[in-house]
Order: sequence, then C-alpha cells, then structure tokens
Amino acid sequence: MDVTENIKKLSAELPSEVKIVAISKTRTPDEIMKLYESGYRLFGENKVQELVSKKQALPGDIEWHMVGHLQSNKVKFIAPFVSLIHSVDSLKLLKTINKEAKKNKRVIDCLLQIHIALEESKFGFSDEEVMSFLKEFSPDEFKWTRIRGLMGMATFSDDQDLIRSEFRILAGLFEVIRNTFFPADPLFNELSMGMSGDYRIAAEEGSTMVRIGSLIFGERNN
Ligand SMILES: *Cc1c(COP(=O)(O)O)cnc(C)c1O
Repeated sequence: MDVTENIKKLSAELPSEVKIVAISKTRTPDEIMKLYESGYRLFGENKVQELVSKKQALPGDIEWHMVGHLQSNKVKFIAPFVSLIHSVDSLKLLKTINKEAKKNKRVIDCLLQIHIALEESKFGFSDEEVMSFLKEFSPDEFKWTRIRGLMGMATFSDDQDLIRSEFRILAGLFEVIRNTFFPADPLFNELSMGMSGDYRIAAEEGSTMVRIGSLIFGERNN
C-alpha cells in the first residue's frame, strides 16, 4: 500500500475545499508515520485508548480528530489535545466536553452527530432531537466548546440512491440549523460526511470533510 499515492489520488479527485481526515484506527504508528513524512497532518481515530496512545507515540503537530462514539467518562483523556470531536450525540456529552475543555484552558471544536442511516446501531441525534437540543442550547453555558457543524454516516449499502438521499437530508438539515441557530457564525461551517465507500456522493452533496480509512491504508481486518 502506497499511502502517500492513495491520498494524492483522493485529493486530486475531491474539490480542494473538502478536507480529508485519514482514519488511522487499527494502523500502527509506523504506517501513520509514512503518511506523516509526506507532509500529512490530519488523522482520526474512533477509540479513546487508541487515540491517546498514538498521540503519545507520534509527533506533536498531528491534528487528531475523534470520530467514534465517545463516553462522557473518557472525555478527560482526549481533552488536552483533541482538535475536533465529530461524535457529540447528547447534551450530557457536550457538558462534559465543556467542563474538561475549561480545565485544560482550551476551546474544543465539536460536531453534532446526526443519525441518518437506516441501521439502529449508528449513534446520533434524530432531526427532532437536534432541533430541540439547539432550541434549549445556550452558548453562554458552553464557552469552552464550539459547535462547528454536523456529522453523519450513511447506511452501509450498495444502494447509491439511498446513500445520496441520506447525505442530502443531512446537508439540508445543516442549512436549516445554520440559518436558524448560527446565522452570524462563520465558524459553523463543517459537514463531516463520506467514508471510503461513499465519499464521492458525499462530496457531491456538500461534504466539507471526508473520513477515509481503508482507501488510504488498505482493508482492515477488524
Ligand atoms: C472507520 C471509520 C471511518 C472510515 O472508514 P473507511 O470505510 O475505512 O473509510 C469513518 N468514520 C468513522 C466514524 C469510522 O469509524
């Protein structure tokens, strides 16, 4: 696997404003270093323990994103360094992130995860939940977190139309939320959608951030 070649191909294919988060879960620090040495700095993990151990093992200028389900009791381990949490799916979690961010005297950027897939197993707010969450939301209480946008995962399926319709719903919700709750906030501007199997559709539907693992590093065994 030539990871550098793979990411070059992806960048050439995607509009320049779409960021690629290299999802390095299950990969060794050596594999990550190959990409790092080619100048790449944006990596994402889905488990707290793995994220923390890679943070410790790898150069300090890597920008680490948390993309997987996050339990409130583990926020403290990543709060000192994480640069974006894609998977905020409850008020309780956001409160904890705010508290831990304050302790670390840094503002933590967050995305609200929206459940758009048919599968029950994927985490996230429903449309109604996120709207009522934001109605109650008072930014003054959350000085140490910054909601930067939304994240969602489409159904794992070969049905391109289904995937497209899910991404389209998410992009529509993003616009509604931006216009309703963040009209004067230029930093509410990230829409994290698209993985190895569906990033093209996601980019066509307005993604600003794709999360790509296997297309960069090869198939995972687990
Ligand atoms: C693993 C993972 C990805 C990347 O998956 P690939 O299909 O390997 O590109 C993206 N997002 C999340 C939340 C993941 O857990």
